[in-house]
Amino acid sequence: MSFVVSPNSKSWVNVPVGSHFPIQNLPFGIAETGDDSVLLVSRIGDYLVDIVGFIEEGLLPFEELAEAEGYMELGKSGCSELRKALFDLFREGNPKVRDNSKLKKSLLIPYTELPMALPMEIPAFVDFYSGINHASNVGRMFRPDMAPLLPNYRHLPVGYNGRASSVIPSDLPIFRPKGQTKAADSDTPEYGPTRELDFELELGFFLSDGNEFGETIPIEEAEDHIFGVALVNDWSARDVQRWEYQPLGPFLAKSFATSVSPWMVTMDALEPFRVRGPVQDPSPLPYLSTKRASHFNIMLEVSIQTEKMKAPQVVSRTNANELYWSFAQQLAHQTSNGTPTEPGDLYATGTISGTEEGTFGSMLELAWRGSKPLVMTETGEERRFLEDGDVVSITGYCQGKGYVVGFGTLTNQVLPAL
Ligand code: CA
Repeated sequence: MSFVVSPNSKSWVNVPVGSHFPIQNLPFGIAETGDDSVLLVSRIGDYLVDIVGFIEEGLLPFEELAEAEGYMELGKSGCSELRKALFDLFREGNPKVRDNSKLKKSLLIPYTELPMALPMEIPAFVDFYSGINHASNVGRMFRPDMAPLLPNYRHLPVGYNGRASSVIPSDLPIFRPKGQTKAADSDTPEYGPTRELDFELELGFFLSDGNEFGETIPIEEAEDHIFGVALVNDWSARDVQRWEYQPLGPFLAKSFATSVSPWMVTMDALEPFRVRGPVQDPSPLPYLSTKRASHFNIMLEVSIQTEKMKAPQVVSRTNANELYWSFAQQLAHQTSNGTPTEPGDLYATGTISGTEEGTFGSMLELAWRGSKPLVMTETGEERRFLEDGDVVSITGYCQGKGYVVGFGTLTNQVLPAL
């Protein structure tokens, strides 16, 4: 089943204007309770919704979640039913919880009270390269004497297997990684902290269930396997990348950290924002072709705050419909050779950049390989790449009529190398 909330629906919970979490969203996440245990939560307005608490009160019929530490037990269609049941509890006009102040106090938790973990346990992480403007920009910078896009780009979603072990939640700091680099004017490489630490603005989708060894997921069924979507920052060390990436692609330049926002926004919540992606020319092979619109209109924004700044500065604004390949195409391609995939697997899109200045999804592009430093207007500081102490925040939302469905924020600070 799927369940899309009408744009006119309202909740009895006070949802501040512009909140990313109106009753149309109802995402899934996992809060940390401090004693090494977790709480399965949804969110409405400024409140975390204690899902298991509502189950124990007999208000949600999903007993299989009572002992669970994640949403795998329910699967995609079970989560759709759970979201529908949450909608019913919180819709305007339903007095069951609204008029029970004891229940409200114990099961609606101000969101600032608990830190959030990753929304899923992630067995595998794959990073695609589906942002065509980013791929073109990087090609121009890294391979200036060749065509910006390699010949395969418009035929298949390029990707690589990343490291699930270094996928971290929002608010956890990252350490400047060390690596092997070679300066252009040097004959020999050296090992030390990266001088070109970067962010990458991406989205990622989680699988609700995968495919068996040897089987494939046909493109028309791909979205049936996609649980929901979160913001991703795929941290990158550009000097390491430039030296190591040929011929097998990125390795240590990317695997030190990837951060993911706390909320899995469901495909049902994104449904009203489905759009056609760019015209794909040449037409993809049949296993990657679908007539269904499979892109999503998601506004994305990145800001930076240095240690000297009092407030963050927006450095980039773009949109997920700049992606060349859709989620469905990425998953169909991933499984097209019969490799098994699993619930919780995270597939990131690749850096999402627009075509204009100020719409690029990485420092590499925003400062054009250091040639056009970003100026922090509050302090006059310049940034070619990220420096220690800098805080990078990514946010994203879909604009509905009179409401937004948002992803919250993904924020991490850069700390000096260990
Ligand atoms: Ca990436």
